[in-house]
Amino acid sequence: MQATTQLIHSIPVDPLTGAVSVPIYQTSTFVQDAPGVNKGYDYARTGNPTRATLENLVAQLEGGSVAAAFASGLAAIDAVLKLLQSGDEIIAVDDIYGGAFRLFEQVYKKFGITVNYVDTTDPAVVFNALTPKTKLIWIETPTNPTLKITDIRAISKIAKAHQCWLAVDNTFASPALQQPLLLGADIVVHSGTKYLGGHSDLIAGLVVTADPGLGQKVKFLQNASGAILGPFDSWLLIRGIETLHLRVRQHSASARAVAAFLEQHPAVNKVYYPGLATHPGHSIAASQSKGFGGIVSFSLKLDTIEAANDFVTSTSLFKLAESLGGIKSLVSHPAQMTHKTIPAERRKTAGITDSLIRLSVGLEDAEDLIEDLRATLDKLEAKRSLGLLGPGLNGKVGEPTRPAAVIEK
Ligand SMILES: *Cc1c(COP(=O)(O)O)cnc(C)c1O
Repeated sequence: MQATTQLIHSIPVDPLTGAVSVPIYQTSTFVQDAPGVNKGYDYARTGNPTRATLENLVAQLEGGSVAAAFASGLAAIDAVLKLLQSGDEIIAVDDIYGGAFRLFEQVYKKFGITVNYVDTTDPAVVFNALTPKTKLIWIETPTNPTLKITDIRAISKIAKAHQCWLAVDNTFASPALQQPLLLGADIVVHSGTKYLGGHSDLIAGLVVTADPGLGQKVKFLQNASGAILGPFDSWLLIRGIETLHLRVRQHSASARAVAAFLEQHPAVNKVYYPGLATHPGHSIAASQSKGFGGIVSFSLKLDTIEAANDFVTSTSLFKLAESLGGIKSLVSHPAQMTHKTIPAERRKTAGITDSLIRLSVGLEDAEDLIEDLRATLDKLEAKRSLGLLGPGLNGKVGEPTRPAAVIEK
């Protein structure tokens, strides 16, 4: 059976009533026949049937054995960090998700867990960064927002030889395109908020493990720390996942068309999309995933914050917002939004220049999306040629033309 068929039919029909949709068990506790004798559930932090259905579904989607659903992607990342001890070290991808960087640096550092950020696209760099204290290698592939590709198989070999865990934040690819556990990773993390949910209507996170023993450790932490996903959001996430393959296929096709269009526009400097043959990670991406996803980033010839501001506030179909992976197309400016908490120097070394813009290509018709981008870029190019976006004309260099508060979280 193909993945889509398997997915749709792995969601069980309710045995009690025949309901086709998974029931929402909106309850905090479960009646027991005698102390400790129950029907598999006793208290809803520990386990809830709606959440369990979601967890089984995601474990299956990722080719894993155990999944645990959390209240957010960051709560899921937090649970993985709690597998470590004070004194342990992490090697992490250098253009890591901003929220993970904040969690590592501003929460876990003070508990004695240190992180070495390296260019994981080169396995030799990861190998050289290993120390006897390295317990976890943390990668995202593609990364956010420059879509760098790390070779999951190569890094998993290094992790296995060193007897440390490899965790992959699989949010950008989604299991419809890439299944890191089948490529040798130990842990997969998701922000379910993005492609899994797919409709920009919930916040959720997941941890999936290949090894059942490691999975039980995560389940223990899920119950002990308590950042669980509630039954309604679990149901909503199942609802989103039912169309995952269909959506991701279209997101990827449209993103490819958008990337090809951007590549030939005179206002654009560089396009980042793993589906382009010119992308340095193209062949590795092709070898480890079934498609290249719905995110496209690009920088402008006029590499200033004000030019990027002009762009992100001028599109009509692409809405300015944090997040990605939903049916509506979104545009964001990482330097001022998702990557604001990353120091400017580290940001620029990771390729996140002042004008870098990230698009989450939605499910609108690709032709309409390209027309929106064309109109916005043409206007930007006209302003540039008239000197209307230069330094001193539209605000000082490096300062936003609009109050930062407009786009702050
Ligand atoms: C959004 C995101 C997260 C955090 O997830 P939340 O659900 O917002 O807590 C983690 N990793 C990546 C790659 C993300 O895009």
